[in-house]
Amino acid sequence: MKGLVIGLSGSELREGLSVLETLSNVTGSNVEKYAVLVSSNPEKVKGFHKLYLIKSGSIYTSFQSVLKIVSEVAPEAIVAVNMKDCVDLMSRVAASTDRYMVTEVALITRNGDDVYLARPILGGRALAYYKFTKGIVFTVAKGKFQPIEGDEEPEVIEIAPEADGYEVLGVEEKKRGAVDIESADIVVGVGRGFKAKEDLAMASELAQILGGEVGCSRPIAADFGWLDEDRWIGISGKKIRPKLYLPIGISGAPQHIMAANDSKIIVAVNKDKNAPIFNYSDYGVVADLYQFIPALIKVLKERLKK
Ligand SMILES: Cc1cc2nc3c(=O)[nH]c(=O)nc-3n(C[C@H](O)[C@H](O)[C@H](O)COP(=O)(O)OP(=O)(O)OC[C@H]3O[C@@H](n4cnc5c(N)ncnc54)[C@H](O)[C@@H]3O)c2cc1C
Repeated sequence: MKGLVIGLSGSELREGLSVLETLSNVTGSNVEKYAVLVSSNPEKVKGFHKLYLIKSGSIYTSFQSVLKIVSEVAPEAIVAVNMKDCVDLMSRVAASTDRYMVTEVALITRNGDDVYLARPILGGRALAYYKFTKGIVFTVAKGKFQPIEGDEEPEVIEIAPEADGYEVLGVEEKKRGAVDIESADIVVGVGRGFKAKEDLAMASELAQILGGEVGCSRPIAADFGWLDEDRWIGISGKKIRPKLYLPIGISGAPQHIMAANDSKIIVAVNKDKNAPIFNYSDYGVVADLYQFIPALIKVLKERLKK
């Protein structure tokens, strides 16, 4: 069987390699590994039989080149990490080659003779299983498959980027804050329980003492504009998987928690003991955040001598 990883960075290819390795183990058949790297700064990643390098800063200027590689390799599985640009590219590959596609796969497993790809649904409360059939295109949830480096020196083939009707007239960088909550070990989440923008200073202080970052629910970033969109956690924001997540004044809507329930430990603070967030939490504190946060900061400062 042949597997093709499509990625926009070396680290995405290493995650993809791990997926193909898992697929080999679960299917019990040797998966011959191919990769396409679309990047303005392509690097050689070991572990693949063939590595196609497309020197381009944009997937939109390389779609036809990717299609040609898919047709040449004729892989039984096409894999990418579930990053926005890759999902966009993969869905177009799937549609153009008449393959079926599954996104955000978190698990590859076997039941009898059949292999299944599983992805969370219903706000992370259930897993949907899709039968693996040859030709499938799928993306894997970021971080679910630990990146690996192989030994095999790939045959490197450089391909010129070839677009399909797109012309990039200019590139305008989106304004970004310096924060990267997706890789933070500790995240303090703030929600509509906070009554004013100034009150978020308490959460920032708590995050700073803990060595973490502040994240938020959608209303805080999208409706009130109190925090940058880079801090928005949820299906339409960032996905986090910290060691500790502290959602404070957040009710626990599925669209929020689905992007946070891979956190190792969740400690929720909410004044409503029936708030849904407690269903997803390892520890729950039923308290008014305006009393709880200052008290917690005081204790932490004493204990940590900050
Ligand atoms: C298509 C779609 C996509 C969406 N995408 C996202 C997304 O990506 N991310 C996201 O977060 N949401 C998303 N939402 C919105 C989501 O459904 C919820 O509306 C939102 O998450 C609620 O935010 P919240 O928990 O901050 O506010 P609320 O639901 O209003 O919760 C506030 C909580 O604070 C508690 N509280 C109030 N005062 C205090 C106090 N003094 N002390 C302690 N607790 C207090 C309340 O008990 C309550 O539980 C999406 C919705 C849709 C329809």
